[in-house]
Amino acid sequence: MSDGITLACPFCETVVADALPEIGPGRCPGCDARYEGGEDSAPATVRAALAAYNADDLPAGEILDNLFRLSPDDDLAHRVAITSDRREDFYGWWLFVHEGPEGARGTLACLTRHRHAGSG
Ligand SMILES: [Zn+2]
Repeated sequence: MSDGITLACPFCETVVADALPEIGPGRCPGCDARYEGGEDSAPATVRAALAAYNADDLPAGEILDNLFRLSPDDDLAHRVAITSDRREDFYGWWLFVHEGPEGARGTLACLTRHRHAGSG
C-alpha cells in the first residue's frame, strides 16, 4: 500500500487528503465542512476541535457521547461527524463540522443538548 495519510469527508466522501505526508485542519472542497483534530484518539480530537472553534467551555465527553449515539437520519448527523484517517501504523481522528448560520460553536453546542429524546 502507498505511504502517507488519506482522509475522506464523512459527509460527501470527497478525498480531502490523498496519501500526504502530513495533514492539518482545513475545509472539504466538496461540501465546505471544516475539519479539525488529527489527534490519535477521538476524545483528544474533540477537545482539540473545541479549542479551535473557541468552544472549549463545552463538555467534550458529552459531545463525543452524543456524537456516537446520533442516528444517520438525525439532522445533526449531517452537520457534525467524527471519522478516522488512514495511515501506516495508527489512526488519526478528525471532527468535521458544517458551520451553518449559528457557526461551528453553535452546531457543537446542539450536541450537548441532544440527550435521550425518549423514543426507543
Ligand atoms: Zn465534504
